Amino acid sequence: MDKQRDFVLRTIEERGVKFIRLWFTDVVGTLKSVAIAPAEVEGAFGEGIGFDGSAIEGLTRTSESDLLAYPDPTTFQLLPWRGDVDPTARMFCDITTPDGEPAVADPRNVLKRTLEHAADRGFTFYTHPEIEFYLLKSSKIGKSGPQPVDAAGYFDNVPGGTAHDFRRRSVRMLEDLGISVEFSHHEAGPGQNEIDLRYADALTMADNVMTFRTVVKEVAIEQGVYATFMPKPFAEHPGSGMHTHLSLFEGEENAFYEPGAQYQLSKIGRQFIAGLLRHANEISAVTNQFVNSYKRIWGGGEAPSFVSWGHNNRSALVRVPLYKPTKGQSARVEYRGMDSAANPYLAFALLLAAGMKGIEEGYELPAEAQDDVWALTDGERRALGYAPLPTSLDHAIQYMEESELVAETLGEQVFSYVLANKREEWSGYRSQVTAFELERNLEIL
Ligand code: GLU
Ligand code: MG
Ligand code: MG
Repeated sequence: MDKQRDFVLRTIEERGVKFIRLWFTDVVGTLKSVAIAPAEVEGAFGEGIGFDGSAIEGLTRTSESDLLAYPDPTTFQLLPWRGDVDPTARMFCDITTPDGEPAVADPRNVLKRTLEHAADRGFTFYTHPEIEFYLLKSSKIGKSGPQPVDAAGYFDNVPGGTAHDFRRRSVRMLEDLGISVEFSHHEAGPGQNEIDLRYADALTMADNVMTFRTVVKEVAIEQGVYATFMPKPFAEHPGSGMHTHLSLFEGEENAFYEPGAQYQLSKIGRQFIAGLLRHANEISAVTNQFVNSYKRIWGGGEAPSFVSWGHNNRSALVRVPLYKPTKGQSARVEYRGMDSAANPYLAFALLLAAGMKGIEEGYELPAEAQDDVWALTDGERRALGYAPLPTSLDHAIQYMEESELVAETLGEQVFSYVLANKREEWSGYRSQVTAFELERNLEIL
Protein backbone atom coordinates (compact mmCIF):
# COMPACT_ATOMS: atom_id res chain seq x y z
CA MET A 1 0.00 0.00 0.00
CA ASP A 2 2.79 2.40 0.94
CA LYS A 3 4.57 1.64 -2.31
CA GLN A 4 1.39 2.43 -4.21
CA ARG A 5 0.94 5.68 -2.33
CA ASP A 6 4.52 6.63 -3.14
CA PHE A 7 3.91 5.81 -6.78
CA VAL A 8 0.85 8.11 -6.82
CA LEU A 9 2.71 10.97 -5.13
CA ARG A 10 5.68 10.59 -7.47
CA THR A 11 3.48 10.44 -10.58
CA ILE A 12 1.60 13.56 -9.51
CA GLU A 13 4.90 15.39 -9.24
CA GLU A 14 6.53 14.01 -12.39
CA ARG A 15 3.49 14.56 -14.61
CA GLY A 16 2.63 17.95 -13.10
CA VAL A 17 -0.89 16.76 -12.16
CA LYS A 18 -2.86 19.77 -10.91
CA PHE A 19 -6.17 18.28 -9.84
CA ILE A 20 -6.93 14.95 -8.20
CA ARG A 21 -10.55 13.93 -8.29
CA LEU A 22 -11.76 11.69 -5.51
CA TRP A 23 -14.59 9.52 -6.81
CA PHE A 24 -17.23 7.54 -4.98
CA THR A 25 -20.76 6.40 -5.71
CA ASP A 26 -24.08 7.00 -4.00
CA VAL A 27 -26.56 4.21 -3.37
CA VAL A 28 -28.42 4.79 -6.65
CA GLY A 29 -25.13 4.58 -8.60
CA THR A 30 -24.47 8.24 -9.35
CA LEU A 31 -20.78 9.10 -9.49
CA LYS A 32 -19.68 11.77 -6.98
CA SER A 33 -16.45 13.71 -7.33
CA VAL A 34 -14.45 16.16 -5.27
CA ALA A 35 -11.23 17.65 -6.62
CA ILE A 36 -8.29 18.19 -4.31
CA ALA A 37 -4.95 19.94 -4.83
CA PRO A 38 -1.75 17.87 -5.15
CA ALA A 39 -0.56 19.09 -1.74
CA GLU A 40 -3.62 17.49 -0.08
CA VAL A 41 -3.11 13.98 -1.43
CA GLU A 42 -0.68 12.73 1.21
CA GLY A 43 -3.03 13.91 3.95
CA ALA A 44 -6.00 12.30 2.18
CA PHE A 45 -4.20 8.92 2.25
CA GLY A 46 -3.49 9.33 5.97
CA GLU A 47 -6.54 11.04 7.41
CA GLY A 48 -9.13 11.01 4.63
CA ILE A 49 -11.07 13.99 3.30
CA GLY A 50 -14.17 14.98 5.29
CA PHE A 51 -17.53 15.64 3.67
CA ASP A 52 -21.21 15.92 4.58
CA GLY A 53 -22.60 12.45 3.94
CA SER A 54 -26.20 13.51 4.57
CA ALA A 55 -26.14 15.43 1.28
CA ILE A 56 -25.43 12.20 -0.67
CA GLU A 57 -28.26 9.81 -1.62
CA GLY A 58 -28.52 7.03 0.93
CA LEU A 59 -25.07 7.37 2.43
CA THR A 60 -25.97 8.33 6.01
CA ARG A 61 -28.76 9.03 8.39
CA THR A 62 -28.73 12.76 9.17
CA SER A 63 -27.68 12.07 12.76
CA GLU A 64 -24.33 10.74 11.59
CA SER A 65 -23.57 12.97 8.67
CA ASP A 66 -19.78 13.40 8.91
CA LEU A 67 -17.92 10.96 6.70
CA LEU A 68 -14.39 10.59 5.38
CA ALA A 69 -13.26 9.61 1.88
CA TYR A 70 -10.00 7.63 1.69
CA PRO A 71 -8.56 7.40 -1.84
CA ASP A 72 -7.56 3.91 -2.97
CA PRO A 73 -4.08 4.40 -4.52
CA THR A 74 -4.45 1.29 -6.72
CA THR A 75 -7.14 3.14 -8.70
CA PHE A 76 -5.01 6.16 -9.62
CA GLN A 77 -5.36 7.11 -13.31
CA LEU A 78 -4.92 10.27 -15.38
CA LEU A 79 -8.18 11.35 -17.05
CA PRO A 80 -7.42 11.42 -20.78
CA TRP A 81 -10.29 13.75 -21.72
CA ARG A 82 -8.82 16.50 -19.51
CA GLY A 83 -5.74 16.68 -21.78
CA ASP A 84 -2.02 17.12 -21.05
CA VAL A 85 -2.09 20.74 -19.92
CA ASP A 86 -2.61 20.84 -16.14
CA PRO A 87 -3.50 17.14 -16.08
CA THR A 88 -6.27 15.76 -13.89
CA ALA A 89 -6.20 12.34 -12.22
CA ARG A 90 -8.75 10.32 -10.30
CA MET A 91 -8.87 7.75 -7.52
CA PHE A 92 -11.87 5.80 -6.22
CA CYS A 93 -12.45 6.17 -2.48
CA ASP A 94 -13.53 4.04 0.42
CA ILE A 95 -15.87 5.85 2.79
CA THR A 96 -15.51 5.61 6.57
CA THR A 97 -17.09 7.14 9.66
CA PRO A 98 -14.96 9.51 11.77
CA ASP A 99 -14.03 6.50 13.99
CA GLY A 100 -12.49 4.77 11.00
CA GLU A 101 -15.28 2.15 10.57
CA PRO A 102 -16.26 1.42 6.96
CA ALA A 103 -19.45 3.38 6.19
CA VAL A 104 -22.18 0.74 6.10
CA ALA A 105 -23.94 2.45 3.21
CA ASP A 106 -20.93 2.89 0.92
CA PRO A 107 -21.81 0.71 -2.12
CA ARG A 108 -18.13 -0.10 -2.64
CA ASN A 109 -18.02 -1.39 0.93
CA VAL A 110 -21.17 -3.50 0.38
CA LEU A 111 -19.43 -5.20 -2.53
CA LYS A 112 -16.16 -5.60 -0.60
CA ARG A 113 -18.00 -7.27 2.29
CA THR A 114 -19.71 -9.68 -0.08
CA LEU A 115 -16.45 -10.48 -1.86
CA GLU A 116 -14.79 -11.19 1.51
CA HIS A 117 -17.59 -13.59 2.37
CA ALA A 118 -16.91 -15.49 -0.88
CA ALA A 119 -13.14 -15.29 -0.27
CA ASP A 120 -13.65 -16.95 3.16
CA ARG A 121 -15.00 -19.91 1.20
CA GLY A 122 -12.04 -19.82 -1.17
CA PHE A 123 -13.69 -18.03 -4.14
CA THR A 124 -12.72 -14.99 -6.20
CA PHE A 125 -15.54 -13.49 -8.26
CA TYR A 126 -14.93 -12.22 -11.79
CA THR A 127 -17.33 -10.30 -13.99
CA HIS A 128 -17.38 -9.17 -17.60
CA PRO A 129 -20.21 -6.87 -18.66
CA GLU A 130 -21.56 -6.15 -22.13
CA ILE A 131 -22.73 -2.58 -21.84
CA GLU A 132 -25.37 -1.26 -24.24
CA PHE A 133 -26.34 2.39 -24.64
CA TYR A 134 -27.95 4.76 -27.14
CA LEU A 135 -26.27 7.66 -28.92
CA LEU A 136 -28.71 10.50 -29.50
CA LYS A 137 -28.39 13.77 -31.39
CA SER A 138 -29.08 15.61 -28.14
CA SER A 139 -30.53 15.17 -24.67
CA LYS A 140 -33.53 17.28 -25.74
CA ILE A 141 -36.64 15.23 -26.35
CA GLY A 142 -38.25 16.59 -29.51
CA LYS A 143 -41.92 16.24 -30.50
CA SER A 144 -41.19 12.85 -32.05
CA GLY A 145 -39.18 11.61 -29.04
CA PRO A 146 -35.42 11.18 -28.64
CA GLN A 147 -33.44 11.38 -31.93
CA PRO A 148 -30.88 8.59 -32.48
CA VAL A 149 -27.68 9.53 -34.34
CA ASP A 150 -28.18 6.91 -37.08
CA ALA A 151 -30.60 4.36 -38.46
CA ALA A 152 -28.16 1.43 -38.42
CA GLY A 153 -28.65 -2.00 -36.83
CA TYR A 154 -26.85 -5.00 -35.31
CA PHE A 155 -23.16 -5.21 -36.27
CA ASP A 156 -23.69 -2.65 -39.06
CA ASN A 157 -20.56 -1.04 -40.34
CA VAL A 158 -21.49 2.58 -40.99
CA PRO A 159 -18.64 4.20 -42.97
CA GLY A 160 -18.03 7.73 -41.79
CA GLY A 161 -20.78 7.26 -39.20
CA THR A 162 -20.78 8.93 -35.81
CA ALA A 163 -20.92 5.63 -33.97
CA HIS A 164 -17.71 4.36 -35.58
CA ASP A 165 -15.63 7.35 -34.49
CA PHE A 166 -17.38 7.34 -31.18
CA ARG A 167 -16.49 3.73 -30.37
CA ARG A 168 -12.93 4.18 -31.61
CA ARG A 169 -12.38 7.21 -29.39
CA SER A 170 -14.07 5.64 -26.33
CA VAL A 171 -12.11 2.40 -26.66
CA ARG A 172 -8.82 4.35 -26.90
CA MET A 173 -9.71 6.36 -23.81
CA LEU A 174 -10.72 3.27 -21.85
CA GLU A 175 -7.43 1.60 -22.75
CA ASP A 176 -5.57 4.74 -21.60
CA LEU A 177 -7.38 4.35 -18.29
CA GLY A 178 -6.21 0.75 -17.99
CA ILE A 179 -9.61 -0.75 -18.92
CA SER A 180 -9.35 -3.47 -21.58
CA VAL A 181 -12.08 -3.72 -24.14
CA GLU A 182 -12.95 -7.02 -25.83
CA PHE A 183 -15.57 -6.07 -28.40
CA SER A 184 -17.42 -3.03 -29.58
CA HIS A 185 -20.15 -2.91 -32.18
CA HIS A 186 -23.36 -1.29 -33.31
CA GLU A 187 -26.35 -2.88 -31.54
CA ALA A 188 -29.80 -3.62 -32.94
CA GLY A 189 -31.49 -0.27 -32.24
CA PRO A 190 -30.81 2.92 -34.25
CA GLY A 191 -27.94 4.76 -32.54
CA GLN A 192 -27.53 1.83 -30.12
CA ASN A 193 -24.01 0.62 -29.36
CA GLU A 194 -22.36 -1.98 -27.21
CA ILE A 195 -18.90 -2.15 -25.66
CA ASP A 196 -17.77 -5.30 -23.82
CA LEU A 197 -15.11 -5.01 -21.14
CA ARG A 198 -12.53 -7.74 -20.60
CA TYR A 199 -13.19 -9.69 -17.41
CA ALA A 200 -11.75 -8.50 -14.09
CA ASP A 201 -12.39 -9.11 -10.41
CA ALA A 202 -15.78 -7.69 -9.47
CA LEU A 203 -14.51 -4.72 -7.43
CA THR A 204 -12.21 -3.54 -10.22
CA MET A 205 -15.04 -4.11 -12.67
CA ALA A 206 -17.58 -2.10 -10.67
CA ASP A 207 -15.06 0.78 -10.64
CA ASN A 208 -14.53 0.22 -14.37
CA VAL A 209 -18.27 0.40 -15.09
CA MET A 210 -18.47 3.76 -13.31
CA THR A 211 -15.46 5.00 -15.28
CA PHE A 212 -16.94 3.58 -18.49
CA ARG A 213 -20.16 5.57 -18.11
CA THR A 214 -18.17 8.75 -17.53
CA VAL A 215 -15.93 8.11 -20.56
CA VAL A 216 -18.91 7.43 -22.81
CA LYS A 217 -20.68 10.60 -21.64
CA GLU A 218 -17.49 12.67 -22.09
CA VAL A 219 -16.75 11.33 -25.59
CA ALA A 220 -20.36 12.01 -26.57
CA ILE A 221 -20.06 15.64 -25.47
CA GLU A 222 -16.75 15.94 -27.34
CA GLN A 223 -18.42 14.66 -30.52
CA GLY A 224 -21.50 16.82 -30.20
CA VAL A 225 -23.89 13.94 -29.43
CA TYR A 226 -25.52 12.58 -26.28
CA ALA A 227 -25.15 9.12 -24.70
CA THR A 228 -27.81 7.56 -22.50
CA PHE A 229 -27.81 4.39 -20.40
CA MET A 230 -31.56 4.66 -19.83
CA PRO A 231 -32.88 1.07 -19.96
CA LYS A 232 -35.61 1.66 -22.58
CA PRO A 233 -35.63 5.06 -24.28
CA PHE A 234 -37.74 3.86 -27.27
CA ALA A 235 -40.87 1.71 -27.02
CA GLU A 236 -40.30 0.38 -30.53
CA HIS A 237 -36.58 -0.47 -30.25
CA PRO A 238 -34.62 -2.83 -27.97
CA GLY A 239 -33.63 -1.65 -24.53
CA SER A 240 -30.08 -1.31 -23.22
CA GLY A 241 -29.03 -4.32 -21.19
CA MET A 242 -25.88 -4.91 -19.20
CA HIS A 243 -25.59 -8.67 -19.66
CA THR A 244 -22.84 -9.75 -17.31
CA HIS A 245 -20.69 -12.89 -17.51
CA LEU A 246 -19.91 -14.29 -14.08
CA SER A 247 -17.30 -16.78 -12.91
CA LEU A 248 -15.80 -18.04 -9.67
CA PHE A 249 -12.17 -19.00 -9.32
CA GLU A 250 -10.57 -21.14 -6.63
CA GLY A 251 -6.95 -20.02 -6.83
CA GLU A 252 -5.95 -20.43 -10.47
CA GLU A 253 -8.80 -22.83 -11.25
CA ASN A 254 -12.15 -21.88 -12.74
CA ALA A 255 -14.66 -23.42 -10.30
CA PHE A 256 -17.39 -23.57 -12.98
CA TYR A 257 -15.33 -25.83 -15.26
CA GLU A 258 -15.53 -29.60 -15.20
CA PRO A 259 -14.30 -31.47 -18.28
CA GLY A 260 -16.75 -34.16 -19.30
CA ALA A 261 -19.74 -32.72 -17.40
CA GLN A 262 -22.78 -31.49 -19.30
CA TYR A 263 -21.71 -28.22 -20.99
CA GLN A 264 -18.50 -28.73 -18.97
CA LEU A 265 -20.35 -27.05 -16.15
CA SER A 266 -19.28 -28.15 -12.64
CA LYS A 267 -21.62 -28.83 -9.72
CA ILE A 268 -20.59 -25.47 -8.24
CA GLY A 269 -21.54 -23.81 -11.53
CA ARG A 270 -24.94 -25.51 -11.53
CA GLN A 271 -25.63 -24.53 -7.93
CA PHE A 272 -24.54 -20.96 -8.65
CA ILE A 273 -27.04 -20.74 -11.53
CA ALA A 274 -29.75 -22.26 -9.33
CA GLY A 275 -29.08 -19.47 -6.80
CA LEU A 276 -29.32 -16.79 -9.48
CA LEU A 277 -32.65 -18.20 -10.67
CA ARG A 278 -34.19 -18.66 -7.23
CA HIS A 279 -33.33 -15.11 -6.11
CA ALA A 280 -33.70 -13.28 -9.45
CA ASN A 281 -36.97 -11.59 -8.55
CA GLU A 282 -35.76 -10.49 -5.10
CA ILE A 283 -32.68 -8.73 -6.49
CA SER A 284 -34.54 -7.18 -9.39
CA ALA A 285 -35.19 -3.79 -7.71
CA VAL A 286 -31.39 -3.41 -7.73
CA THR A 287 -30.41 -5.03 -11.04
CA ASN A 288 -33.34 -3.21 -12.71
CA GLN A 289 -33.88 -0.25 -10.47
CA PHE A 290 -36.10 2.16 -12.38
CA VAL A 291 -39.74 2.31 -13.52
CA ASN A 292 -38.32 2.35 -17.03
CA SER A 293 -36.32 -0.88 -16.44
CA TYR A 294 -39.52 -2.93 -16.65
CA LYS A 295 -40.37 -1.44 -20.04
CA ARG A 296 -37.17 -3.16 -21.25
CA ILE A 297 -37.92 -6.47 -19.52
CA TRP A 298 -41.43 -6.57 -21.00
CA GLY A 299 -40.70 -4.78 -24.28
CA GLY A 300 -39.12 -7.57 -26.36
CA GLY A 301 -35.85 -6.77 -28.11
CA GLU A 302 -34.12 -9.88 -26.71
CA ALA A 303 -34.41 -8.86 -23.07
CA PRO A 304 -35.36 -11.82 -20.85
CA SER A 305 -38.84 -11.77 -19.30
CA PHE A 306 -38.92 -15.18 -17.60
CA VAL A 307 -36.77 -16.99 -15.07
CA SER A 308 -35.03 -19.84 -16.86
CA TRP A 309 -31.58 -20.94 -17.93
CA GLY A 310 -30.29 -22.46 -21.11
CA HIS A 311 -27.25 -23.38 -23.10
CA ASN A 312 -26.74 -20.71 -25.69
CA ASN A 313 -30.45 -19.85 -25.39
CA ARG A 314 -30.94 -16.10 -25.75
CA SER A 315 -34.48 -16.17 -24.42
CA ALA A 316 -33.21 -17.44 -21.05
CA LEU A 317 -32.37 -15.23 -18.06
CA VAL A 318 -29.13 -17.14 -17.51
CA ARG A 319 -27.21 -18.42 -20.50
CA VAL A 320 -24.30 -20.84 -20.42
CA PRO A 321 -22.24 -19.69 -23.40
CA LEU A 322 -20.36 -21.98 -25.73
CA TYR A 323 -16.61 -21.98 -25.41
CA LYS A 324 -13.79 -24.07 -26.79
CA PRO A 325 -13.04 -27.15 -24.64
CA THR A 326 -9.40 -26.04 -24.58
CA LYS A 327 -10.49 -22.84 -22.89
CA GLY A 328 -11.77 -24.22 -19.60
CA GLN A 329 -10.64 -21.10 -17.77
CA SER A 330 -13.25 -19.10 -19.67
CA ALA A 331 -16.18 -21.16 -18.27
CA ARG A 332 -18.80 -18.67 -17.13
CA VAL A 333 -22.51 -17.94 -16.96
CA GLU A 334 -24.18 -14.91 -18.51
CA TYR A 335 -26.84 -13.08 -16.49
CA ARG A 336 -28.99 -11.28 -19.07
CA GLY A 337 -31.48 -9.59 -16.78
CA MET A 338 -29.57 -6.55 -15.58
CA ASP A 339 -29.76 -3.21 -17.38
CA SER A 340 -27.18 -0.53 -18.07
CA ALA A 341 -28.47 1.81 -15.36
CA ALA A 342 -27.84 -0.49 -12.38
CA ASN A 343 -25.47 0.47 -9.55
CA PRO A 344 -22.69 -2.02 -10.40
CA TYR A 345 -21.41 -2.33 -6.81
CA LEU A 346 -24.77 -3.32 -5.35
CA ALA A 347 -25.82 -5.39 -8.36
CA PHE A 348 -22.57 -7.44 -8.44
CA ALA A 349 -22.84 -7.95 -4.66
CA LEU A 350 -26.38 -9.35 -5.02
CA LEU A 351 -25.57 -11.56 -8.02
CA LEU A 352 -22.67 -13.04 -6.06
CA ALA A 353 -24.77 -13.45 -2.90
CA ALA A 354 -27.54 -15.21 -4.87
CA GLY A 355 -25.07 -17.58 -6.53
CA MET A 356 -23.23 -18.27 -3.26
CA LYS A 357 -26.55 -19.08 -1.58
CA GLY A 358 -27.11 -21.71 -4.25
CA ILE A 359 -23.72 -23.24 -3.46
CA GLU A 360 -24.05 -23.04 0.34
CA GLU A 361 -27.56 -24.50 0.40
CA GLY A 362 -26.87 -26.99 -2.41
CA TYR A 363 -29.79 -25.79 -4.60
CA GLU A 364 -30.87 -28.17 -7.39
CA LEU A 365 -30.72 -26.69 -10.86
CA PRO A 366 -34.11 -26.98 -12.61
CA ALA A 367 -34.29 -28.38 -16.16
CA GLU A 368 -32.88 -26.10 -18.82
CA ALA A 369 -35.05 -24.21 -21.30
CA GLN A 370 -34.64 -25.85 -24.72
CA ASP A 371 -37.24 -23.71 -26.38
CA ASP A 372 -37.68 -20.08 -27.21
CA VAL A 373 -39.26 -19.06 -23.90
CA TRP A 374 -40.90 -15.96 -25.41
CA ALA A 375 -42.75 -18.05 -28.01
CA LEU A 376 -44.50 -20.33 -25.49
CA THR A 377 -47.99 -19.70 -24.15
CA ASP A 378 -48.46 -18.64 -20.52
CA GLY A 379 -49.84 -22.10 -19.79
CA GLU A 380 -46.82 -23.83 -21.33
CA ARG A 381 -44.45 -21.62 -19.39
CA ARG A 382 -46.32 -22.34 -16.16
CA ALA A 383 -46.14 -26.06 -16.81
CA LEU A 384 -42.40 -25.81 -17.45
CA GLY A 385 -41.86 -23.68 -14.33
CA TYR A 386 -40.61 -20.51 -16.05
CA ALA A 387 -41.88 -17.82 -13.67
CA PRO A 388 -42.18 -14.25 -14.94
CA LEU A 389 -39.69 -11.62 -13.80
CA PRO A 390 -41.35 -8.72 -11.93
CA THR A 391 -43.71 -6.86 -14.24
CA SER A 392 -43.10 -3.43 -12.73
CA LEU A 393 -40.91 -1.62 -10.22
CA ASP A 394 -43.75 -1.96 -7.71
CA HIS A 395 -43.75 -5.73 -8.19
CA ALA A 396 -39.94 -5.83 -7.77
CA ILE A 397 -40.20 -3.79 -4.54
CA GLN A 398 -42.69 -6.33 -3.17
CA TYR A 399 -40.22 -9.16 -3.81
CA MET A 400 -37.35 -7.23 -2.29
CA GLU A 401 -39.28 -6.33 0.86
CA GLU A 402 -39.56 -10.03 1.68
CA SER A 403 -35.96 -10.92 0.86
CA GLU A 404 -33.64 -12.01 3.64
CA LEU A 405 -30.84 -12.44 1.12
CA VAL A 406 -31.06 -8.81 -0.06
CA ALA A 407 -31.44 -7.43 3.49
CA GLU A 408 -28.40 -9.40 4.67
CA THR A 409 -26.22 -8.52 1.71
CA LEU A 410 -27.00 -4.81 1.51
CA GLY A 411 -27.16 -4.32 5.27
CA GLU A 412 -30.09 -2.73 7.05
CA GLN A 413 -29.35 0.87 6.09
CA VAL A 414 -28.90 0.38 2.33
CA PHE A 415 -31.80 -2.07 2.25
CA SER A 416 -34.23 0.41 3.75
CA TYR A 417 -32.83 3.31 1.76
CA VAL A 418 -33.18 1.50 -1.59
CA LEU A 419 -36.73 0.47 -0.72
CA ALA A 420 -37.71 4.03 0.29
CA ASN A 421 -36.08 5.47 -2.83
CA LYS A 422 -37.87 2.98 -5.12
CA ARG A 423 -41.23 3.44 -3.41
CA GLU A 424 -40.88 7.16 -3.94
CA GLU A 425 -40.19 6.64 -7.64
CA TRP A 426 -43.12 4.27 -8.00
CA SER A 427 -45.61 6.56 -6.29
CA GLY A 428 -44.47 9.46 -8.48
CA TYR A 429 -45.04 7.31 -11.56
CA ARG A 430 -48.36 5.86 -10.38
CA SER A 431 -49.88 9.31 -10.05
CA GLN A 432 -49.16 10.21 -13.69
CA VAL A 433 -51.86 10.32 -16.34
CA THR A 434 -50.02 9.06 -19.40
CA ALA A 435 -50.33 9.76 -23.13
CA PHE A 436 -51.47 6.13 -23.49
CA GLU A 437 -54.52 6.69 -21.26
CA LEU A 438 -55.42 9.98 -22.92
CA GLU A 439 -55.18 8.45 -26.40
CA ARG A 440 -57.18 5.36 -25.49
CA ASN A 441 -59.78 6.87 -23.21
CA LEU A 442 -60.40 10.55 -23.69
CA GLU A 443 -62.52 10.45 -26.83
CA ILE A 444 -64.50 7.31 -26.20
CA LEU A 445 -65.28 7.64 -22.52
N1 GLU B 1 -30.60 -5.31 -25.99
C1 GLU B 1 -30.91 -6.60 -25.44
C2 GLU B 1 -31.27 -6.47 -23.95
O1 GLU B 1 -31.77 -5.46 -23.58
C3 GLU B 1 -29.80 -7.58 -25.64
C4 GLU B 1 -29.37 -7.87 -27.04
C5 GLU B 1 -28.21 -8.87 -27.06
O2 GLU B 1 -28.47 -10.09 -27.00
O3 GLU B 1 -27.06 -8.43 -27.03
O4 GLU B 1 -31.07 -7.33 -23.15
MG1 MG C 1 -25.86 -6.87 -26.96
MG1 MG D 1 -25.11 -10.97 -24.23
